[in-house]
Amino acid sequence: MADILDIIIVGAGPTGLACGIEAARAGMKVLIIEKGCLVNSLFTYPANMTFFTSRELLEIGDLPLPSVNVKPTRAEALEYYRRVAEYYRLPIRYQERVIQIHRTGSAATPGSNGCFEIATETGDGKKHLHVGRYAIIATGYYDLPNMLGIPGEDLPKVSHYAREGHEFFERKVAVIGGANSAAVTALDLHRHHAEVTLVYRGRELSRHIKYWIRPDIENRIKEKSIRALFESEVKEIGADYIVVQSATEGTLRLENDFVFALIGYHPDVDLLRAAGIEVNPQSLRPTLNPESLESNVPGLYVAGVVVSGIQTNEIFIENGRFHGRQIIVDIKRKN
Ligand code: FAD
Repeated sequence: MADILDIIIVGAGPTGLACGIEAARAGMKVLIIEKGCLVNSLFTYPANMTFFTSRELLEIGDLPLPSVNVKPTRAEALEYYRRVAEYYRLPIRYQERVIQIHRTGSAATPGSNGCFEIATETGDGKKHLHVGRYAIIATGYYDLPNMLGIPGEDLPKVSHYAREGHEFFERKVAVIGGANSAAVTALDLHRHHAEVTLVYRGRELSRHIKYWIRPDIENRIKEKSIRALFESEVKEIGADYIVVQSATEGTLRLENDFVFALIGYHPDVDLLRAAGIEVNPQSLRPTLNPESLESNVPGLYVAGVVVSGIQTNEIFIENGRFHGRQIIVDIKRKN
């Protein structure tokens, strides 16, 4: 067992890094534990993706993000967060998954009597235990896609993540969803000369679609270079077809080579619940003090997009990056 740290942060996404920087600036002994690589979710984005946020809003630790464009690319963001982690010399353990967070000692006096035992597992199956006076869960949502729950969803031709368009040249592809990811993916596939059908259960595209994406996707639908089926749901996926139930066109059986099911993601609330955090069963929001982001478990904080439960369009990098400051102010106040 290692020394007792001041703070252990779960997740080295932009939020976890921002929390780590604030803790280090406050002179606290901190450790970040990450189950993948640095900013693992951003690493998983499509390779040629451009952020929809301007560069200033992705910055953490008061370090500027250099980009030739107003909106940086994925590659620029990855480079940036690598530089930030190096600059602040953040201690991060990679490829180590947190499997349990357990509070020991008295809940009444966090930080003095109580500690958090953080159990982890590395890729080689080895178990580790880290101990901290405080802990922050900043695990994001990108690992758990929302599922359609229909036959054929487990076929290898179905992806819940966007991919580069090249491999779908002259292929029949269905994109399920009506928000930004679905729209951007449908446009990219269309520009790689895939035959794209967009299937969405709403009457029209989501109101959350970015203002510069909306005219592009709407015009491609209007000119019929992308086929859109609104008020429609895919009911079954077969090896070379999909079955769509459409309010306007009835039951359709469409030839199909590949399906992108882009209907969102949700946070891993099992880890939160096992740690004693109350989570609303509908919204998946953890019980928190909105000012301090401290959960109902004293000394255990939640930060980043996991705070907003299934409403993953409430917190982005641009606002989650300030959670570290809120939390560290609260911890300093207690000491
Ligand atoms: P994440 O970035 O998801 O970081 C969580 C980290 O925790 C991950 O590295 C994960 O591997 C790790 N982790 C999870 N579970 C464990 C565990 N048990 N043990 C250890 N580590 C664990 N936001 C913007 O602000 N601007 C944009 O332009 C933008 N574009 C986007 C484009 C796409 C395609 C997508 C999918 C999202 C986009 N977002 C954008 C949203 C943005 O990615 C998220 O809001 C942001 O990543 C949330 O940061 P986070 O640190 O809270 O979570």
